[in-house]
Amino acid sequence: MFPKARVLLVATTTGYQTRAFGEAAERLNLELVFATDRCAVLDDPWRDSAIPVRFHEMAASVEDIVAADARQPFSAVIAVGDRPATLAAHACEALGLAGHPSDGAEAARNKLVTRERLRQAELPVPRFAAAPVSSDSSTLAAQATFPAVLKPIALSGSRGVMRVNDVSQLEAALGRLRRLLARPDLRAQRDPAHQLVLLESFIGGHEFALEGLLTDGQLQTLAIFDKPDPLDGPYFEETIYLTLEDLESDLAQRIRSNVAAAAVAIGLRHGPIHAECRVGDSGVFVLEVAARPIGGICARALRLTSSTGASVISLEELLLRHALGEDTTRWRRETAASGVMMIPIPRRGLYRGVTGAVEARGVGGVDDVVITAKPDQLLLPLPEGASYLGFIFARAATPDEVEAALRGAYGRLSFTVDPELPVLQSTDG
Ligand code: ADP
Repeated sequence: MFPKARVLLVATTTGYQTRAFGEAAERLNLELVFATDRCAVLDDPWRDSAIPVRFHEMAASVEDIVAADARQPFSAVIAVGDRPATLAAHACEALGLAGHPSDGAEAARNKLVTRERLRQAELPVPRFAAAPVSSDSSTLAAQATFPAVLKPIALSGSRGVMRVNDVSQLEAALGRLRRLLARPDLRAQRDPAHQLVLLESFIGGHEFALEGLLTDGQLQTLAIFDKPDPLDGPYFEETIYLTLEDLESDLAQRIRSNVAAAAVAIGLRHGPIHAECRVGDSGVFVLEVAARPIGGICARALRLTSSTGASVISLEELLLRHALGEDTTRWRRETAASGVMMIPIPRRGLYRGVTGAVEARGVGGVDDVVITAKPDQLLLPLPEGASYLGFIFARAATPDEVEAALRGAYGRLSFTVDPELPVLQSTDG
């Protein structure tokens, strides 16, 4: 009997997506080995064989992966999340496996380097300038045209991204970003990119996301998601993603060609990509191309069918097949329109519970309602936090019906969020 193919999965958390990879690996009869910085809190079935890594100690982590490979070789390396994607790219290079070049994966994580590479490739970019996080707002304002967007260089999920319309808003936003970047969890990442901030002109327009797979630089578009809710700031919380029906329309082709060009310019070549673009009067602006798939549970909005239509697989299964060298072009997104709503955090406070979930699940077209907030959890909205109360999934004949189903289900949910308990003052001495 042939030994099972071994695939290394690099991740920071053991959430939905790692479980989905686990299920896909079982279907494909693969051995999945986990590399994470959370070994101490791991509650996953691969505990015994997990490789402990530290994302801020890249060279040492790559060495540990190489040592594990020497004991029993890996056939492929895949990643969940932005920081793991960089380590996965370094590991692929060290092991001689197909993957994104590490230089490209590093560039994709860095919003300043991304802007520089897109500009060099003569792709549309906003006016931008980077400065130390300690800069004063008037120095920074001298380089800006308002409205502008202030952002950190190496965070994700719109964390710390703020629209500013004038110098006084810039000053307030800069203070907020300074405090965010000084938080212990971010300091612990020891990322020099957290010393800088980026200020760029605000691009008006409608936003889309593209989910794709690169094979030796060739883009396979798995889906383009329309974001029907306006994203005009002051913070940029994602809500609804709806699949675009016609991937051959003029709009879809312009998005696909600019994302493909942006991926090449950034230096990505082989593996999953998730790109965000804004489309307005002055063209298709690619905001970023991440060297990883769509985050977490949202991947459930994508199901792929083979050209015969005989089987339906998850995005995670497609990614495993691709990483193992299968020609994935025979897999297409299913014909039904699909969508997901990321349920926004209404305000800072303690999450107590939700009512109406049964009614929401009963709305026609709704596939599932998943509440991810945990009772008594402190909820932090953007720009400091970066999470959601939960997710609603829907499928229907058209994107309009999907959108109506998502909004209908959301309307039936009622969340209780209490104010934080006041800190008790000591009366001693
Ligand atoms: P992250 O990687 O944290 O998601 P992005 O740079 O992609 O950060 O920005 C997050 C969101 O903020 C974007 O999806 C978009 O809605 C908005 N945004 C970012 N930069 C701009 C810009 N220059 N003009 C308009 N909107 C922007």
